[in-house]
Amino acid sequence: MLFEKVASYYEKLESVSSRLAMIDIMTDMLKESEKDEIKNLIYMTQGVLAPAFEGVQIGMADKLAEESIALSTGKTKEQVNALFRKTGDLGIAAEECAKETKLRKISGKKLAINDVFEALHKIATTSGSGSKDMKIKMLAGLLSNSAPLECRYIVRFAMGQLRLGAGDATILEALSKMSTGERTAKEKLENAYNICSDLGEVGETAKKKGMEGIENFKVTLFKPIRPALAERLPTAAEILEKMHGKCAVESKYDGLRAQIHIDKKNKRVEIFSRRLENITEMFPEIVKAALSEVSCESAILEGEAISYDEDTGQFSPFQETIQRKRKHGVKEMSEEMPLHVFAFDLMYINGEDYMKKPYRERRDMLEKVVKGNGTIRFSDRIIVTKPSEMEKYFEDRIANGLEGIVAKDLNAYYIAGARKFSWIKMKRSYKGELSDTIDVVIVGYYRGRGSRAEFGFGGLLAAVYNDRTDMFETITKIGTGFTDDMMKEFKKTLDKIKSAKKPVRVNALVEPDFWVEPKYVVTVKADEITKSPMHTAGMHNENGIETGYALRFPRIVGGGMRQDKSADEATTTKEIIEMFEQQRKTKLSEAA
Ligand code: ATP
Repeated sequence: MLFEKVASYYEKLESVSSRLAMIDIMTDMLKESEKDEIKNLIYMTQGVLAPAFEGVQIGMADKLAEESIALSTGKTKEQVNALFRKTGDLGIAAEECAKETKLRKISGKKLAINDVFEALHKIATTSGSGSKDMKIKMLAGLLSNSAPLECRYIVRFAMGQLRLGAGDATILEALSKMSTGERTAKEKLENAYNICSDLGEVGETAKKKGMEGIENFKVTLFKPIRPALAERLPTAAEILEKMHGKCAVESKYDGLRAQIHIDKKNKRVEIFSRRLENITEMFPEIVKAALSEVSCESAILEGEAISYDEDTGQFSPFQETIQRKRKHGVKEMSEEMPLHVFAFDLMYINGEDYMKKPYRERRDMLEKVVKGNGTIRFSDRIIVTKPSEMEKYFEDRIANGLEGIVAKDLNAYYIAGARKFSWIKMKRSYKGELSDTIDVVIVGYYRGRGSRAEFGFGGLLAAVYNDRTDMFETITKIGTGFTDDMMKEFKKTLDKIKSAKKPVRVNALVEPDFWVEPKYVVTVKADEITKSPMHTAGMHNENGIETGYALRFPRIVGGGMRQDKSADEATTTKEIIEMFEQQRKTKLSEAA
């Protein structure tokens, strides 16, 4: 498939605003790709060069890309920069410059998708001294052999700003249509995705082996599994009822989730974060423990890594543990503040996929193969049949400085990548506040006025994620909780992803001073969820159009943007509706 064709599909994708139209265009594009191209095509469409866990990033700075454009078109850097300032989009600037110079012929043959992908991959992985100049020249070389429209997308991609507006859910639906002609096979494809976290691989399997290959998808060592997530319920009685009268209750540790892949024979260990980044290098003590404290050939286990004082039995607050997520001074920090892993699940052992085993069996096996008294411990837990037992355990956990509890269905599979009632969390609730925080996606920001004028930043417009429609729906403006440093940081970071018009995946009635691409997540605390005609969260649902939901008195917590969550992992509209219902019930019972 020629890249020229891909670029024209991208142009079509950009021009439509309906999701269904987007899926159709994407389906045609995927159908047209060859077996050995679809993987790269999917990565490119996601705006990446590899699945997230491989950590290959391009993100060239504006200045470097400008130099490449100048070099390939014979313009001066100043001319390119002037066009950039005029259009606000370096991709368009590259296209314009190329149009003028493409009167001279492109020399070599037209580039295929794999040629472009490989060239970009090479640019991203070039490092060391002199690499800056090399990258500029390599990108210039690629642009010289590309038509103007191709230049638009190559430059945007190289800057990490492709922004086609297609989320994973949209790509999965297109894959479903490609494979079966219907959108209904999405769930099966999503299951495969949840197991390997690699959409390119899912697409390639679908193309090569059809739905049979997708249905037989198996866990692979060193490919992270998308994590199981917990639902919420406010009372022990409701949790037990949902769990049919009996369940396990575990301590909820407020640390860093760690998925540990172990191959003892080859002495290889890889650790993945909740967001599936490879964080192995940061935790040498966990790598060491995985090899010495686990007695099987291979395993994938999961736990919460947290700093913990053995003498006092105290757990450190999240702000301290998170300091271990760093690339420098790793050795010193691992000695100063060693972590423990409180293991709570086992998904794979000695070549066998364990995800379809009931939780009780997974936990039994976990306790068999891990020593449990070293760096890796087991999450504390009890089995309960009465609400009073769960309540007592919960109070006891809170008194110990923990976040709350996670109740687990003894018979449930490990449900990758989904928030289901097989795990239910309960956290401490503060009077007059929602018991849980909400993770919202920034979709816009406001200009600073009055005392904030000097920062050029006055607050955020934020949204939740509707996983049914793959859209971001606004839920609140946030004006409090910012320090001066945070305002500077927000302005700087958000300016890089500003969008001239409302981003395709954002559904909004209110308009911020500046739109931004839905990318960054912040955690907020609020007093209450209310109904509001201003916000689109929950507005378009199966029943038609209803009043949306909003947050009352939202304030930022946790110090800024969350590094461990991507936009699609924000709180969902469905969760907001559930939390609203729980809040209503709690109010009714308090009034009674
Ligand atoms: P939160 O902000 O509440 O941690 P989250 O969206 O990150 O929410 P949830 O699904 O809501 O994730 O809660 C589960 C999280 O709790 C897991 O991601 C894990 O990191 C953490 N956790 C701590 N202890 C446990 C445990 N014993 N079992 C499962 N998860 C646990």
